[in-house]
Amino acid sequence: MSGTNRPRVLVAGMQYEVNSFTAGTGTLEIFRKRRLAEGDEVFATSHGDEVAGARKVAARRGVDLVPIFLTFGGAGPLLDDEVYHYCRDRILAGVRREAGRIDGIYLPLHGAMAAKTYPDAEGDLVTRIREIVGPKVPIVATFDMHANFTDEMARGLDGAVGFKTCPHVDYPETGEAGMEILCKAMAGEAKPRLIHRKVRMMTSAEGHDTNTGPMTEVIALLREVEMTPGVLSATVIAPQPWMDVPELGWSVLVVADGHASVAEGQRQADRVGRHVWGMRERFRSNRISLEEAFDAVAASSADQKPFVLSDASDAPSAGSFGDSTVVLKHLLARPPLAGPLLLTLTDPAATDACHKAGVGAALSLTIGAAFQPIYYEPVTVEARVIGLYDGPYMSELPPMNLDAGRRAVIEIQGFIRVLLSEKPVITLDLKGYEASGLYPREAKTVIVKSAGQFRGFYTPFAHRIVELETPGPVDSILPRLPFRNITRPLWPFDPDLAEPWEGAGP
Ligand SMILES: [Zn+2]
Repeated sequence: MSGTNRPRVLVAGMQYEVNSFTAGTGTLEIFRKRRLAEGDEVFATSHGDEVAGARKVAARRGVDLVPIFLTFGGAGPLLDDEVYHYCRDRILAGVRREAGRIDGIYLPLHGAMAAKTYPDAEGDLVTRIREIVGPKVPIVATFDMHANFTDEMARGLDGAVGFKTCPHVDYPETGEAGMEILCKAMAGEAKPRLIHRKVRMMTSAEGHDTNTGPMTEVIALLREVEMTPGVLSATVIAPQPWMDVPELGWSVLVVADGHASVAEGQRQADRVGRHVWGMRERFRSNRISLEEAFDAVAASSADQKPFVLSDASDAPSAGSFGDSTVVLKHLLARPPLAGPLLLTLTDPAATDACHKAGVGAALSLTIGAAFQPIYYEPVTVEARVIGLYDGPYMSELPPMNLDAGRRAVIEIQGFIRVLLSEKPVITLDLKGYEASGLYPREAKTVIVKSAGQFRGFYTPFAHRIVELETPGPVDSILPRLPFRNITRPLWPFDPDLAEPWEGAGP
């Protein structure tokens, strides 16, 4: 226990979403350019996130927080072990330093981190923290909805709470909920017991939107479960599907209050598990061909705009590099459409060529497939440079400065406007386009490289939203991806699987 009357809670975390199918290896640079904060920097870099929510509750309940370490690396390839070791060892050093003087631990995690020899990095982290502090110090973690929750995480944690929104707009609320459980545990007001039910299903990210479709029902059910006496919180984890790890699959988490509530908590977790299993077919994506999508654009009247077309298979928010030329190649092969049509493409060499040529220059450029030639092919275009940009810009989701490096806007065939950037960057909201002089609301067609989270931003003004049938490392037709490490049976890889877990009954 701490020396003063005020309880002390250690805060530490690492946040990364691995994509096992993208090229390369994740380095510490991925974190350095987004967020890698130690000590007081953890709070200084916290805006509208889980930590901000946790701080609010701590202030209200008279709890002192001890910030140790926090990273955010977005989404990207499998990490080198050294990167994970660096983050983990910073956190463990802080835990060792504070052990004996802290009353609880809050871990703002993402839950989808993996390194070369660590398919479950967070499980390893939690286990090692638990070894240092022993069984009596309560540990509560918060998670992204797209985590992959494991039994090892469950063994080390007293409580776990995940987002209930997608697009994720409840970062602070989730931090508040996690910290509230931790504070109750420290004050003796509750005895959190974490129950984990694994469900043998995987779904593509298109179906995770909590504003429309099947996920709205799932969230309503969780709210109902949370009204049950003895239940402190209920979460559904629908993993991002590009993580090739042994325990891949949906999870239901229920935090029960005390030993006497464990049986009821398990019953509720199983109830939610059976419910989502019964809905599984409804989570399939509903993609249409490029021909069909652009025929619809061509046939539309001038005031029917914008068409918002998602090229989810190349989504940087899921770990792709944003260098697909599939849509561009299709456009170049068909008669020109009414414009403007907005498209993003990561290509450092082409961006550099545009900056050297200057605004107004006309040039022949070979663009695309700069990072992922195994999925895409470059195309050569006659382009005119219409804008040059540099420097980071504030994004709405995630709520932070994003750095795409230098950017250039080129015009092709009079109607295509390609936003070139040196680095891949998350494109869920409109900010990347707007920071580059392109305005989706006024466009005829906007290509968005996101599976579902873009909907929260585009639905209010889109004439029509269409999911494109395109290839790439974040394909949503999961059996097409080269999974090697997942545990079978798992739906939809085993489409005839009868039970959501062994012994559940059909
Ligand atoms: Zn997510």
